[in-house]
Amino acid sequence: MENCIFCKIAAGEIPSAKAYEDDEIVIFKDIEPKAKIHLLCVPKEHFAYLSETDDRRAALLGRTLQKIGRLKDSLGLGGGYRVVINQGENAGQTVLHLHLHLLGGEALPWE
Ligand code: 5GP
Ligand code: ZN
Repeated sequence: MENCIFCKIAAGEIPSAKAYEDDEIVIFKDIEPKAKIHLLCVPKEHFAYLSETDDRRAALLGRTLQKIGRLKDSLGLGGGYRVVINQGENAGQTVLHLHLHLLGGEALPWE
């Protein structure tokens, strides 16, 4: 997708601090961390919203969650972590390429 920052990061056209990559996802550090560890887990396929999820994408997202669970220790999230997906304007989604925020490395406030 033209002019999508996460497509460019996934393609290696824009540098990022990558923590993990395979054929379908990439995980890298958020440039404006909201917790001691703040990673972005980005499926390489470009789509913006969960409402665009067909069966194939549902399987991709399932595998993505499974991988996050398997990678938690190597990502520094072994003490616990939060997974956040911002969707749309009210949630403050700024990048219209679906991504999962992984927050941890410390106790996270929950109010
Ligand atoms: P959203 O607000 O869409 O849920 O999250 C987008 C996230 O992407 C933000 O937390 C923001 O800091 C991060 N971000 C935006 N541009 C870049 C970039 O070029 N590199 C990295 N590593 N993170 C970015
Ligand atoms: Zn994209």
